[in-house]
Amino acid sequence: MKTPITVAYGDGIGPEIMAAALRVLEAGGAELDIETIEIGEQVYKRGGNTGIEPGAWESLRRTKVFYKAPITTPQGGGYKSLNVTARKALGLYANVRPCIAYAPFVDTLHPGMNVVIIRENEEDLYAGIEHRQTDDVYQCLKLVTRPGTEKIVRYAFEYARSNGRRKVTCFMKDNIMKFTDGLFHSVFEEIGTEYPDIEKEVWIVDIGAAKLADQPGQFDVIVMPNLYGDILSDVAAQIAGSVGLAGSANIGDQCAMFEAIHGSAPRRAGQNVANPSGLLLAGVMMLAHIGQTDAAARVHHAWLKTLEDGIHTYDIFKEGVSVQQVGTAEFADAVIARMGQLPVRLPQVHYEAAAPITAAAKPVQKAEKQLVGVDVFLHWDGGSADDLGRLLEGYTAGPLQLQVITNRGVKVYPGGLPETFCTDHWRCRFMGGAAGHQHVAQLYSTLAAAGFDCIKTENLYTFDGQPGYSAVHG
Ligand code: NAD
Repeated sequence: MKTPITVAYGDGIGPEIMAAALRVLEAGGAELDIETIEIGEQVYKRGGNTGIEPGAWESLRRTKVFYKAPITTPQGGGYKSLNVTARKALGLYANVRPCIAYAPFVDTLHPGMNVVIIRENEEDLYAGIEHRQTDDVYQCLKLVTRPGTEKIVRYAFEYARSNGRRKVTCFMKDNIMKFTDGLFHSVFEEIGTEYPDIEKEVWIVDIGAAKLADQPGQFDVIVMPNLYGDILSDVAAQIAGSVGLAGSANIGDQCAMFEAIHGSAPRRAGQNVANPSGLLLAGVMMLAHIGQTDAAARVHHAWLKTLEDGIHTYDIFKEGVSVQQVGTAEFADAVIARMGQLPVRLPQVHYEAAAPITAAAKPVQKAEKQLVGVDVFLHWDGGSADDLGRLLEGYTAGPLQLQVITNRGVKVYPGGLPETFCTDHWRCRFMGGAAGHQHVAQLYSTLAAAGFDCIKTENLYTFDGQPGYSAVHG
């Protein structure tokens, strides 16, 4: 039976590589019932600021499988990223990007590289909650949730298990972000105990990234929060030597989207030169996802054999290694001609029919939550930290009284150093045992009445007696 999928041909090289990829998938035995939608530059220019027609969502919600060619995002403001919109609207929480070297057939510094980056796709600094608060200061909120983290971490372990991978590594930076990245780390440790068959490893992202760039062969599956994953999945694809060869999957509980990692390469459009491999491999991931595993393996093997035979598009063509430089359509013909063949030197792949990976989060335990203070953020440029401290010592509300002032997170009162550079943005912490919201409101009103510009307040809670806020050091 044919599986319904939604296809978008995109912009630039998109239509050529999508036509080539679909031809190969179908020659490999894929049974696809294709619905086509329009996305990209023309839709943006007609005034759809997300790059997708409202009616197209109906197709996506019906088929739940989106095979997407790259699009061109028009220059200038006001246009929203279609990828970000699709990820959020369809709940595509996991981004899966295999980064594999194909040495000696494709040039690479890391011949043994075979890493899968699993990136959390919906949270972190990508919530898009940003504010300008003072003349000097802008903020972006980093949101990390327990259910979101549980889902991505569990997905990574399930992916490793069902794809025969031996190790899952977690990258984060909890030495600095003790709450957000700290949660990511502790959830990784917690869920990891349910997978005794899989090796586990944790790296602070900076040293982890350096190791990944230097010795990628040490890694297998790496799971990370959104921003690190965005950056490092491109680094990993690049150092594998294969930006034009990498595909990716965006997976949700109900829907999934498959695409090449590169863009629409407008300068190459319409010339039949682009490499369709990234989109084709994304198509192979799609076939595995919809359970057409025989077709997935057949196409993947024929493609590997084509690489081995030196039939290469311009981007990977190398004198002495390659045998023949071909265009987009001829490359597809070459893969189709090898359907049924196996690679000789590159490893064979295995796709097993299995239920799609599900990664539910457990209900979060409700904690005993107690308000114990408030951070009041002020826009103030009336003098030194000591001047502000002395002024604020005079303001209390119920049990709340000034404890400490920081500027950009550095303690400046009491006992700050005159060398500390201060902006016009002050975090003033008022504490005082069991407080109530009325005390926070009272403090806010009193400060406002005294002429202070309170740009925001952040309540300080304990959860089961543990502080739910970072301590001020110094
Ligand atoms: P790009 O990935 O389109 O191109 C970067 C370089 O790689 C170019 O030199 C290009 O010729 C080459 N290249 C890319 N894909 C290739 C292929 N399949 N075969 C051979 N060579 C290939 O990146 P860019 O130039 O920064 O962006 C162009 C447009 O693509 C922009 O409008 C950007 O917004 C968009 N874009 C879209 C997506 C997406 O839809 N997922 C992703 C990235 C960029």
